[in-house]
Amino acid sequence: MSGLRIPLDGPDGSGTAHALSVLAPNPSPMTLDGTNTWVIGTGEDVLVVDPGPEDGPHLRRLADLLRGRRVTAILLTHGHHDHSGGARRFAELVRAPVRALDPGHRLGDEGLADGDVLTVGGLELHVVGTPGHSFDSLCFWLPEDRAMLTGDTVLGRGTTVIAPDGDLADYLRSLDLLRARAEQVGAEALLPGHGPVLPDPIGALEGYIAHRRQRLDQIRDACGRGARTPAEIVEIVYGDVDRSLWPAAEMSVRAQLSYLEGIEGGR
Ligand SMILES: [Zn+2]
Repeated sequence: MSGLRIPLDGPDGSGTAHALSVLAPNPSPMTLDGTNTWVIGTGEDVLVVDPGPEDGPHLRRLADLLRGRRVTAILLTHGHHDHSGGARRFAELVRAPVRALDPGHRLGDEGLADGDVLTVGGLELHVVGTPGHSFDSLCFWLPEDRAMLTGDTVLGRGTTVIAPDGDLADYLRSLDLLRARAEQVGAEALLPGHGPVLPDPIGALEGYIAHRRQRLDQIRDACGRGARTPAEIVEIVYGDVDRSLWPAAEMSVRAQLSYLEGIEGGR
């Protein structure tokens, strides 16, 4: 039973019975409402996923909220600064280790990898390796609530970009894996790194997969019509998208071009 909570005024305070979003004040076209910091557990011990950017008021609000409870570990869905920038400072505030796939983002001896199972206050949290948005992206499955924390692999609104340290072929594989996993385990909610909770995991994942395939077809088509540079492709394919997002779109086009070159080269 997920016990879904979806406030009408945005992601802050949203979540499931054992996962609570504390929204960081860093809204932007790329981060939507801001970064969702997730608190996992309702008892004395909790895990904190993605402390968010290095923002003093946010980190103090989070620490105040958790006063009297123990943060057993801080986990990162990936190393991008809007998720990890505040990790070191928050770790000092609550005296907890930071665990991440990328050793460069850890504080303490323990890492995080696909297949790891963490426990906190009788809850399990399963680590699922989902490279693609970035090389080090992880999702976390909370079986008790049938909920998957997705970081930037799936967002609550719109679609995500493939960052320069990501890979589209990996990303497509990760979406397929999440889709299969969601069906297998009966997932009832996706808890994203940005934006609102998604109550229909399979529908959301299928939408993401279809969108990616459609964009790839559009890019093939734009190239067929003579577009040569990523900027030219963006003008054709992303003409309907707000111009403030064009730099991100160009990054995404570059990732898609190298993916298409890869499969046409028989990778
Ligand atoms: Zn992010």
